[in-house]
Amino acid sequence: MDKQELYQSLETVEVQLQDALLQVQAMKEMLTSVVNNLELENKYVRERLQELEKMQVPTVQKEEDASTRSQVQENLNHLYEDGFHICPSSYGAKREGECMFCLEILYRDS
Ligand SMILES: [Zn+2]
Repeated sequence: MDKQELYQSLETVEVQLQDALLQVQAMKEMLTSVVNNLELENKYVRERLQELEKMQVPTVQKEEDASTRSQVQENLNHLYEDGFHICPSSYGAKREGECMFCLEILYRDS
């Protein structure tokens, strides 16, 4: 390989390297744009998730539970006042006087 050939080979390699560099820069830009899009999407998904978490209804559920329980308690009250046991051992049986077990159930939560 004489000097002239060597220079030509080097120039060829130089052009190839410049091409490769351009490709790397283009790929880098594409990657940056992909990452930006993913970050935007991620942000949107997180915000949406927070909205959904806020919309979930544990408080409403609790209120429903409480109102169901007070409804049950009220029914038991009526049953006891009508002269029946509401305690597990004698439930539904006619009551003579006060029953400690029934009263315990009636006043357990209040
Ligand atoms: Zn009883």
